[in-house]
Amino acid sequence: MSLLDSDTQLNRNSYYEATVQRPAELAPLNETLQVDVAVVGGGLAGLSSAIELAQRGHQVAVFEADRVGSGASGRNGGQALVGFASGQAELHAQLGAAAAQQAWAMSIEAVDIMRARIQASGMDAQWQPGALTVAVSQRKQRALRQEFDAMLKHGGLDLSWLDGQALQAHLRSDAYVAGIYETVSGHVHPLRYTLGLLALAQKLGVKVYEHSVVQALDMGPPARLRVNGQEVRADFVVLAGNCSLPAWSPAVAPRVHERIMPVGTYMIATSPLSATQAAELMPTRAAVCDNNFVLDYYRLGADNSLLFGGRVSYTTRTPARLAQRMQQRMVTVFPSLRDQPVHYLWGGFVDISMNRAPDFGRIAPHVYYLQGFSGHGLALTGLAGRVVAEAIHGQADRFDVFARLRHHRFPGGARWRTPVLALGMAFHRLRDWL
Ligand SMILES: Cc1cc2nc3c(=O)[nH]c(=O)nc-3n(C[C@H](O)[C@H](O)[C@H](O)COP(=O)(O)OP(=O)(O)OC[C@H]3O[C@@H](n4cnc5c(N)ncnc54)[C@H](O)[C@@H]3O)c2cc1C
Repeated sequence: MSLLDSDTQLNRNSYYEATVQRPAELAPLNETLQVDVAVVGGGLAGLSSAIELAQRGHQVAVFEADRVGSGASGRNGGQALVGFASGQAELHAQLGAAAAQQAWAMSIEAVDIMRARIQASGMDAQWQPGALTVAVSQRKQRALRQEFDAMLKHGGLDLSWLDGQALQAHLRSDAYVAGIYETVSGHVHPLRYTLGLLALAQKLGVKVYEHSVVQALDMGPPARLRVNGQEVRADFVVLAGNCSLPAWSPAVAPRVHERIMPVGTYMIATSPLSATQAAELMPTRAAVCDNNFVLDYYRLGADNSLLFGGRVSYTTRTPARLAQRMQQRMVTVFPSLRDQPVHYLWGGFVDISMNRAPDFGRIAPHVYYLQGFSGHGLALTGLAGRVVAEAIHGQADRFDVFARLRHHRFPGGARWRTPVLALGMAFHRLRDWL
């Protein structure tokens, strides 16, 4: 099964698609076009780039192979979190203390960008502040405490360390021994947010085309793209196609896609809990994730459905008995939900880089790419869009903080990188339980 078949199958039954009113389909490109910047991909990274570029006076076109938000952006866990999937240590080791600290501050700015856009546009993205990271064992608690101390040192957050009763005030579950609570991070309905960005981009004059596959890229300059058989000329290109870029257009960016790996992750949504049940289980409505390598992440939707994510798959095949296994994980955390009906099951692919740090760079002076969000891109894509727009507009300092990060290709080439990664992950999963 190809990544695209598997992706379509995974998106069929998403809570988010069921709880949003999508605008009418946008017309595909059917004429030649000349723009300042061509953006490949109508997810959060592509739309954010387009908005930030348009705000700086550039003429922008976004090409989306499917529908806007049909990729990871419209179906994720909804957790808009400060920081990076790699943790700060990787950034510190590679960039030094000052640049790593600058990157940390930019990760806070990423959440600020999201909140500001929601507020300024009045979009109904269902923003809810508050995030909890929790530990399932004493060993994991020690790792969490180190993370807490490091976060305190990096600054910019209002943090609390929680154990015992204090943790129960946020989360009524016996599955955890400690937690970190902070309120800069929060959660949203990601598809509503993505469609809110689409409206914002269109208001700024960005041309957005759905069902428009970028099939080929001649880097030029000027760059020439083939989209639905039509020629598009552009001074700059931003590749924001995430995991499906090589599937839609293998010839577009062979050098970048070897640096990320598609990893499947899955979610279920229950029927809405009663207000009393919701307040009992998650009194502060904070988004939750644990600090296991293969983590559980969950939150209450605005209608009190519990949206519970977890599991991973390192092949493009959907795991067997997925709904039951997801439900079992949820019941381990909340035994009282044993009989709560599960109404939705869906999933998608995250673009992990080998070291889990974001991978932003250039494949030519005027062809940029944004990828490697490693399951942490809901807010970070906003920052990615801002720094790539700054770079195209002539000020690349902040983009280059990220572009300086070294990334490795996944070992084994196309044929072996999945099994090699699966082996590595099996080891980490084992460590979660030790
Ligand atoms: C189940 C799940 C849960 C997650 N949970 C969280 C979370 O709680 N918090 C968090 O921070 N992150 C989370 N993530 C990750 C987050 O969703 C992503 O990091 C983010 O959405 C990436 O945005 P993007 O724009 O790069 O990619 P996408 O949203 O995937 O957009 C890329 C788009 O490019 C299009 N495209 C590709 N190739 C072409 C082409 N050749 N021509 C035209 N269009 C093309 C695709 O169709 C797609 O729509 C999760 C991801 C998944 C799948």
